[in-house]
Amino acid sequence: MSDNGTCDLCGLPVGLQDFSLPTPERTFHFCCEGCKGIYQMLNDIEDPPRPSANNPSQGESR
Ligand SMILES: [Zn+2]
Repeated sequence: MSDNGTCDLCGLPVGLQDFSLPTPERTFHFCCEGCKGIYQMLNDIEDPPRPSANNPSQGESR
């Protein structure tokens, strides 16, 4: 009954919504966005670059 395993932060079973965090070593799985964010913060892991049309490096005027 545990195909997706458990959250790598709090240990709760990961449900249908799998918040995965791929790293060069392995892929972590979390039960929620909060756990993923906290784990990234604690371990200084950056979000993987995702293909997005919104490029913040251009037109930075504030
Ligand atoms: Zn969790």
